[in-house]
Amino acid sequence: MIHYGELGLKGLNRPFFEKKLIENIGKALKNVEYQKIRKVQGRIILELNEKSNVEKIEESLKKIFGIAWFAPCKTTEASSIDKMKELVRNNFPIAAGTKARVSTNRADKTLPYTSMEVNRELGAYLVKQFKAKISLGEPETTIFVEIVEGKAYVFDRKIKGLYGLPSGVSGKVLHLLSGGIDSPVAAWLLMKRGCEVDFLHFHAFERFNEAKLAKILDLAKVLTQYSLKARIFFVPFYPFEAEAVEAPSRYRLVLFRRFMVKVAEEIARKHGINALGSGENLAQVSSQTLENMEVISKATTIPILRPLLTYEKNEIVQLAKQIGTFKISVRPYKDCCSIFIAKHPTTKANLEIVESIERKLNLKDAIRECHEEIEIINIE
Ligand code: ATP
Ligand code: MG
Repeated sequence: MIHYGELGLKGLNRPFFEKKLIENIGKALKNVEYQKIRKVQGRIILELNEKSNVEKIEESLKKIFGIAWFAPCKTTEASSIDKMKELVRNNFPIAAGTKARVSTNRADKTLPYTSMEVNRELGAYLVKQFKAKISLGEPETTIFVEIVEGKAYVFDRKIKGLYGLPSGVSGKVLHLLSGGIDSPVAAWLLMKRGCEVDFLHFHAFERFNEAKLAKILDLAKVLTQYSLKARIFFVPFYPFEAEAVEAPSRYRLVLFRRFMVKVAEEIARKHGINALGSGENLAQVSSQTLENMEVISKATTIPILRPLLTYEKNEIVQLAKQIGTFKISVRPYKDCCSIFIAKHPTTKANLEIVESIERKLNLKDAIRECHEEIEIINIE
């Protein structure tokens, strides 16, 4: 039984949300055995069979946005409470003396008993059958019963989901993915709000090379477990580098960021993508100032989403560990431009100065060259 978060799910969005969530669960379980999946009374029921690998299914569901919690259940006809007793006796034995309670939720109101009656009668049965002690305040074990469409679903543990919105309900983002710690976390947060995320990475090599870019591919693969499919656009940045040697070194970082978003914008427009994503964070490094962000944003008309803007570094690291990207992010990698970027890049870029520098460079051709060298990798 799969429950989705209901807050913020209003009116017409709801059927769309549910349809997408079911579709995504289906995709995530593409290579796993199960009977069928359907929506019933505000929940999703995933029916398993003897061949289903429950552990694998649990691992997959833990990575799907839009799920509040889920529970592996046993079911029986809900026509009488005796049937539930039998099911508990056979499937959920409780050690003598354990503090226990029963928690019943009745979506199907047509049955001849109330939730309270099930709690009381099944609770009394736990005492009689297993010598359990009833404790409503601090139970060690809870037997949950959900009554849905004439069936009782019984379980003794709830597994927490990721919440968020199902991948694909909030439009498409082209995310600037570096090899660092932050940008993968930023991508994940965008996915959490239902965005379908494609990646764009600028690399230091002449052309795409799977071995040299393994770190980026590995990051994207981990992230795609949460969003189910993604494209990575690999673009070399040497065309920019060749021009930027002519520019004052203090400005190269901002120039490079502007260059990246200009290339990104063209790719986004071409592929029907509505926004760019970035791992920028306010004041984390001295160049990430509001002034610089404004100058970077002014290089494009497409919105740039910065989900990590206000995060603390330790929060980001913690999330990276939870997501599974941290260990990959700390692997050594030939990163962008460290070669030619100044030690102390400007912290207060001025748009007029930046634009006058750009006019002296041949960035149009550099952008065109980047586009000619794009390599697209699909991940599922
Ligand atoms: P990260 O850990 O994501 O690299 P950071 O704190 O190191 O972030 P910067 O290196 O200043 O910050 O980069 C800021 C943002 O610019 C990154 O989060 C990423 O979105 C984008 N970016 C940086 N380098 C690249 C690159 N080579 N390719 C694509 N995007 C990049
Ligand atoms: Mg970085």
